[in-house]
Amino acid sequence: MIAFVLPTVIPMYFWEETFTNSWHVAVILRYVYSLNMTFLVNSAAHIWGNKPYDNKIKPVQNLAVSIFAIGEGFHNYHHVYPWDYRTAELGNNYLNLTTKILDFFAWIGWAYDMKTVSSDIVQTRMKRTGDGTNLWGWGDKCQSEEQKREAIVLKEQNH
Ligand SMILES: [Zn+2]
Repeated sequence: MIAFVLPTVIPMYFWEETFTNSWHVAVILRYVYSLNMTFLVNSAAHIWGNKPYDNKIKPVQNLAVSIFAIGEGFHNYHHVYPWDYRTAELGNNYLNLTTKILDFFAWIGWAYDMKTVSSDIVQTRMKRTGDGTNLWGWGDKCQSEEQKREAIVLKEQNH
């Protein structure tokens, strides 16, 4: 009803669109687009991107998929921590609209007991199994020489 009937009937009623225009643009085009963007999570986000959390699995962090699938492209994180409702680490949530929506429903009390992962656990796992990308502060100008050497050793170990 909400996915197919309303998007057809509303443009016909309010803007005098024909059934054909309404059906093809508001329903079929939108549906095909959203399905294809969703499918990118299980194709592109398993091929092109970096692996900051676990370098030994196929899923990757893919920025383009995160944009098109409103936050579902942080897929390396999602496979390492499948129970985390955010599907991404906090620092990545600027693109994560689905998490913002869940946060809103938590704020009004409709969503609760949402599971996340502490940043300590995430940082430890990144150092142990990640590919060395995306670590907080790594590569920054303010990083000490020792931290820079540690980052290089980690990248060499995991590649
Ligand atoms: Zn996957």
